[in-house]
Amino acid sequence: MCGSDGTFPGGETAAPGHQHPEEVMRRVVENLDGEYGPKHNTPNGKPIDTAVAIILSQQNSAVSGKACFDELKRRFPTWNDVRRAPVDAIEDAIRTGGLARLKAKRIHALLEALAERHGAVEIGELPDRQPESAIAELVRLPGVGPKTARCILLFAVGADVFPMDVHIFRIAERIGLLAPKTPDERAHRIVGALIPEGRAYSAHVNMIAHGRTVCRPAAPRCDACCIAEYCEFAQRRLDAMDRRQSDPRFA
Ligand code: SF4
Repeated sequence: MCGSDGTFPGGETAAPGHQHPEEVMRRVVENLDGEYGPKHNTPNGKPIDTAVAIILSQQNSAVSGKACFDELKRRFPTWNDVRRAPVDAIEDAIRTGGLARLKAKRIHALLEALAERHGAVEIGELPDRQPESAIAELVRLPGVGPKTARCILLFAVGADVFPMDVHIFRIAERIGLLAPKTPDERAHRIVGALIPEGRAYSAHVNMIAHGRTVCRPAAPRCDACCIAEYCEFAQRRLDAMDRRQSDPRFA
């Protein structure tokens, strides 16, 4: 379905079943809502907390990342306290989570950059509408990429933006909505543009759930998948099975 640069040639290439990619994504989001339940966003109003929590969650379970976050907040009640602390002390607070040195440096660099940009450890006004310029500003911060910028906007202010983690990348590629190895920001723009208005949060949460339980990296459970009818990967599997069944060597 996609060109090698991740685009849809002419913007008109058909998805499986010859449907437009936007229609495929609309049905995918609907089916996932049906399977896992629609999700409703309750923004936390804490963009710096969100950014730090994302750094701590990298290569970490949700439980372990949360424990590190709680311990960091216990030792340093404000983000300015964390910024003024030696990196060693931050590392010590988050040691249970793994990659503690790297994450401590990232957190410290982020807080320093915010203080430099705003004169204090704050992130400034973030819009919940027309977020493109906010994304462009956020990705200039150290350690903030396309996914983290959108997570900050989605979870902190409730913007209708679509962060893509490894599960979502995998599903989008298997369905055929995204060419493999599409660069991060470009992938976010391509897939984000297909998400029905107002559905980014539910699509994000449910696609991650689907990637963890059904569309797993190895051995995806296509026979139990509620979006298989829209999936190129599943179609290729079926075609391969048909070829085997009609091959006299397997008769
Ligand atoms: S049909 Fe298979 S590969 Fe396609 S989305 Fe479902 S589990 Fe993933």
